[in-house]
Order: sequence, then C-alpha cells, then structure tokens
Amino acid sequence: MNSQPDITDVVIAGAGLVGTPLAQVLAANGWDVVLLDAGEAASRSSAAAVRDAPVSAGPDRAATPWQAHERVLRQRCTALSLGTQQWFAQHALWSAVADDAAPIRQVNVTQKGYFGATRLRADELHVEALGYVVDNANFTQVMRSMLAAQGVAFHSGARVVAVREQASFVEVHLADGPPFRARLLLAVDGVSSAVRESAGIGRQQTDYGQAAALSIVKLEDAHHGVAHERFTDTGPLAFLPRTGPYMSVVDCMEPAERSTIDDLDDAAYLARLQARFGYRLGRFEAVGPRLTVPLLRIEASAQTATRTVLLGNAMRLLHPVGGQGYNLAMRDVACLVRLLGTNRGADPGEADLLRHFVEARRNDQRQVVRFTETLARGFRGRAALPGHVRSAVLLGLDTLGPLRTHFARRTMGLTS
Ligand SMILES: Cc1cc2nc3c(=O)[nH]c(=O)nc-3n(C[C@H](O)[C@H](O)[C@H](O)COP(=O)(O)OP(=O)(O)OC[C@H]3O[C@@H](n4cnc5c(N)ncnc54)[C@H](O)[C@@H]3O)c2cc1C
Repeated sequence: MNSQPDITDVVIAGAGLVGTPLAQVLAANGWDVVLLDAGEAASRSSAAAVRDAPVSAGPDRAATPWQAHERVLRQRCTALSLGTQQWFAQHALWSAVADDAAPIRQVNVTQKGYFGATRLRADELHVEALGYVVDNANFTQVMRSMLAAQGVAFHSGARVVAVREQASFVEVHLADGPPFRARLLLAVDGVSSAVRESAGIGRQQTDYGQAAALSIVKLEDAHHGVAHERFTDTGPLAFLPRTGPYMSVVDCMEPAERSTIDDLDDAAYLARLQARFGYRLGRFEAVGPRLTVPLLRIEASAQTATRTVLLGNAMRLLHPVGGQGYNLAMRDVACLVRLLGTNRGADPGEADLLRHFVEARRNDQRQVVRFTETLARGFRGRAALPGHVRSAVLLGLDTLGPLRTHFARRTMGLTS
C-alpha cells in the first residue's frame, strides 16, 4: 500500500470482468493506473466444479439478493458478443483467453407451446462465431495475471469504503490502509458499489417479477456450439455452450416457485429441466451446483459524479436474457478509452470529457435497456403479446431479412 499518497491518473475500484481489461488498456495507453479489489480471485472454474462433482451440491442459498448476484457472477459464465471479442482482440487481450472460450455458432430462439422459431447462424452472417462464452472466474484470473507486466499497480484485499472529492482529485478511502488519490476514479465495484453509495448517486431498483435458477448441465451428446433461448410463460430458459459437453443454464420462473426448486434434489431438478426443454439437446446427464436468484434491474441515477464514472454492474444490472449487460458495459469502456486517448499530460477527470462520455453513450444504453425489457417481459404474463402474435414475431424474425439482421447485429453487439 502507498504510504505517501501521490496523485495517480486513474484509480479503478473493482478488478472484475469489466475493471480488469479496462485497467490493462488504459495502462497500455500510457496512463498511470492503480487497480483495487476487495477480494481475491476465484481460482476454480465453474465447469471444472461440475466435472469434479457431477452429481452433487443441490441448491446453493445466498443471504441477500445482491450477495446472490455477486456469487452468481463469480461462478458463472458470460457470453461475449462478437463486438466485445473484437475489442479484446484489437487490444491484444484475446489470445490469452481464446483457448478457454466456447464459440457460439448458432442461436435457436423458440417459444414453448407455439409454432415458430428463429435461427441465427454464424456462417450465414459470414462470421466465425456469433459470440464466445467465457468462464467468469477463469477469464478474470487470466486477465489479472497479465496486470504486472502491463504496468498496472494491482492491490487485492483493498476494499473501498468511501470517496471524498477534493478540488483537483478524488480521495479513495479503504477499509484498511492509507487512501489513494486520483484525477479520475472509475467505479467498477459491482452491483452493491461502495463508490456509488459514497458519491451520493442514487439507484432505481425494479423487480422483474421473475427468479432464475442458474446451473451447468452435462450433456450426453455434443452441443455443436448451438445456444438456445426458449421463451416460456414463466420467462426465458437459456442454454449457452461451454467448452466440452457442458452448457450453462438460466432457468427463469415465477418467484413463488423458487423455494420448490431449491428443495429439489439434483435428479429431480434435472428431470424438471429435461421436461421443460425437451430433447433438442439430447439427454441431460448431470447438473452441477445450482443457485436461485431474484431477477432485478438496478440502475444508477447518474453515470458520473465529480471526477468519477460508474461502469459495469455499479452502473446497471439488467435481466440476463439476450446476454446484453456485459457487452453494453464494454461498449461504455470502449467509448471512455477512446475519449481518454493516450496520455499526453491532460487531466483525465475533466468535467467536459465526462459530460461528452455520457452524451455519447446515451442512445446505445437506452436501446439496449428497451431491447432487454422487451425480451424479458414481452413473452410472458399479462404484459405478453398474444401467443399467435409472438409466434408471428419469431416466424417474422426468421423470414423478414432486415428485422432478423437487426436482431442478429444487436445480439452480436455490432449495433450501437
Ligand atoms: C445471471 C446473469 C447472467 C449474465 N450473463 C451475461 C451474459 O451472458 N452476457 C452479458 O453480456 N452479460 C451477462 N450478465 C451481466 C454481466 O455478468 C455483468 O455485466 C458483469 O458481471 C459486470 O462486471 P463488473 O466488473 O461490473 O462486476 P463484477 O464482475 O461483479 O466485479 C466487481 C468487482 O468489484 C470488486 N469489489 C466489490 N466491492 C468492492 C469494493 N468496495 N472495493 C473494491 N472492490 C470491490 C469485487 O471483488 C469484484 O471483483 C449476466 C448477469 C447475470 C446476473
């Protein structure tokens, strides 16, 4: 820890999925970067957890919704859109994680009980993959292992508890040790962001009226890189390909069903999942540790405060349907990196730059929130469109070129 706090160009609070690559790219652009994280890196991949304990664990209960989300994010995987993958490749960060990333070659979107499906295929769109699925824990660990060589000063076990604005810098206070001073503070400290709270930025929380069981299943057959998004009356059911014969599952349900699902043993849960999804992926052989969480939308009331920017989950948590949250966050990152440019001695926390950033990002953020809301709510409950209309939407997507192309480009993160 520093004993005599100098003023650093950029302090990043949170070395998660967003904060770690952000630190790497800013350091490569010549900025002085200090990266702080409250915890230690998780060391075991979730797929490995299933391999080692294939018929195991049962439900995994977490105390509060936010704790549950934070645990989920550590244990789970994330689908990177093609746009996000290209950003990593452009900054020479992709090769380190490529071997562990499962390509999505096709996405099948269907609706339970109705005719109509849409298929997005990478080869039809002339791309190698529509996106890539990475293990959150492995991905973060690999990214963190490169930090020292890239000149980032990384401090683990450094929990930010408060921030204080000064005239030309922000002071970042830790639970333990002396404070850091920064021209620009980037808050990437997750859904329960201490920076957001301390900076006095409010948040809106909306309950989607859904819960989700998150797990990994082992298949008897190969998945061939095909992801499935199936809309049901209780919400989406999604399967994402992982490396090997594994798939990550997000199984949405009515909140009242949560305790019933938690009480099922693994065999009973697997039978329920098989009945709900059918045999499109063949037989499910085993299921790994399972966690149920309420699905919330949490959004900060502002993205910036003096010399401070909120990014990633500190800014916004979305419904997982359509895999938009991380990819939207990385487009925020890409924009901020572009505006900051290479270090030529300018002040990175300048108010005009932060204002420009907020304006530049507004449209894309609004569109993604609207798109995700439509997917999350449009296919279920009282807010849902009538069944035959939904069916027509899916059929329409498959047959109407431009609409389908828009859907594909949005899913691949190539629209902004
Ligand atoms: C079930 C689910 C599935 C999802 N699937 C997808 C998907 O397929 N595709 C997609 O695009 N998005 C997906 N998302 C969204 C995606 O997971 C998030 O966008 C992403 O995790 C955000 O990363 P982050 O770095 O902001 O936060 P995190 O990854 O949560 O990292 C926060 C970091 O901050 C640290 N920290 C916390 N508090 C402090 C503190 N006080 N001081 C210092 N450090 C601190 C933590 O230790 C952690 O390392 C999903 C979300 C959910 C809930």
